[in-house]
Amino acid sequence: MASAFNIITQVAAKSNITDLTSFELAKTLDENDELKHLRDEFFFPKMKTLPHVDFSLVDENSDAIYMCGNSLGLQPKGVKKYIDEQLEKWANMGVFGHMQEPLPWALCDEYAVDGYSKLVGAEKGEVVMMNGLTINLHLMMISFYHPTPERHKILLESKAFPSDHYAVESQIKLRGFNVEDSMVCLEPRSGETCLRTEDIVDYLKKEGKSIAMVMFSGLQYYTGQLYDMKTVTEEAQRQGCIVGWDLAHAVGNVPLKLHEWNVDFACWCTYKYTCSSAGGMAGAFVHSKHATRKDDDRLLGWWSHKFGSRFVMDNKLDLEEGAFGYRVSNPPILLVCPLMAILDVYKKTTMEALREKSLLLTGYLEYLLEYYFGRDSATRTTKAFCDLLTPKNPAERGCQLSLHFSVDMGTVFQELVKRGVACDKRLPDVIRIAPVHLYNNFSDVHRFIAALQASLKVIENGN
Ligand SMILES: *Cc1c(COP(=O)(O)O)cnc(C)c1O
Repeated sequence: MASAFNIITQVAAKSNITDLTSFELAKTLDENDELKHLRDEFFFPKMKTLPHVDFSLVDENSDAIYMCGNSLGLQPKGVKKYIDEQLEKWANMGVFGHMQEPLPWALCDEYAVDGYSKLVGAEKGEVVMMNGLTINLHLMMISFYHPTPERHKILLESKAFPSDHYAVESQIKLRGFNVEDSMVCLEPRSGETCLRTEDIVDYLKKEGKSIAMVMFSGLQYYTGQLYDMKTVTEEAQRQGCIVGWDLAHAVGNVPLKLHEWNVDFACWCTYKYTCSSAGGMAGAFVHSKHATRKDDDRLLGWWSHKFGSRFVMDNKLDLEEGAFGYRVSNPPILLVCPLMAILDVYKKTTMEALREKSLLLTGYLEYLLEYYFGRDSATRTTKAFCDLLTPKNPAERGCQLSLHFSVDMGTVFQELVKRGVACDKRLPDVIRIAPVHLYNNFSDVHRFIAALQASLKVIENGN
């Protein structure tokens, strides 16, 4: 595929636009965007409905500059209808709602499975929607982590998300091993922010026989690095390790092929790129090669029992096959509703088409960042500069770019928020900006750059 810069240049040339930094070009890129209609599927916050905005600096009636889909996706307009329907059903028939359409409560989670299977590249029986992400990580690790004195380590990335880090720590302790001996956090080379695939593979080749499980995030929340899941999975399995991926930042962001990559298990939350609302219901993948395994210590509940005889209540477990057998409790209908609404949106396109737009949108953001704020840029307009922690190679990232500034991050963040930018800062020193292929456009990116420029100028002038 042509690079983002080449495409942007071509679009500009075709429209006789000579200034690649002009707002006119952003508008033209929006007009050419074949997925632009998807923005209408979401409630897009306005400046006037955001907290902390300074209305002397922005037009309160314009759209906010929402760049935070990496943290919380916007609300699909379809959610309310799904929830209202269920509230009405509950009001009208109470307990009978368990087996009445639409979305019979006893089975409602299963209605979201096909859509998510598609998003993660799973086959039938490999995906289940349940619980929260960290809970699912625990459930999977209890089932798949069987340390022995020779092979007891869990390999993860240094600076893993705290929840993953703590979950791994607690699983090691639960099995009677020491965190100091059994938890290996792989560090990037000194002076680098991202791990190289070759270094992960080399480490596995050297130490793989002592590693019981590899548990990385597919897309690193802090740096925005997309790992080469196929290669890492392949090498880890060659060494006899179980491989699990945390796909919190990958699902709905980049195309995934979990079945084909032969991943053992994976878990993800749904409130980031699949817009399911804060704390929304999470998902898990278990490869079909494990569909009938019974040799684990998984945690059970009545929902692990096959549906056909689940309500015989004879306390003789007949375990559901595949991922469904990892369920414990009955599913929360109100959390399934947002999943149905966002899957309706994803159905209108493909992950491949979304990825194509995403590469262009993030490439455009990168181009403008480098032009105005690059450390070595001849066209830099501010004294302060900005470095990217995220890999430059588009194949090694999703939509998010992680920015590091030469001036105080807290102050930059504060100034951005005043100008109606929704983004987040992550300690110690990064601001994450995610133009999301579902609802962001090129104009948003251009307006973000203008807001950043104004923010940095104000900071330099000591206001
Ligand atoms: C967002 C995120 C989480 C959040 O976990 P919850 O259980 O949903 O609170 C965990 N791990 C990673 C890598 C994340 O990005």
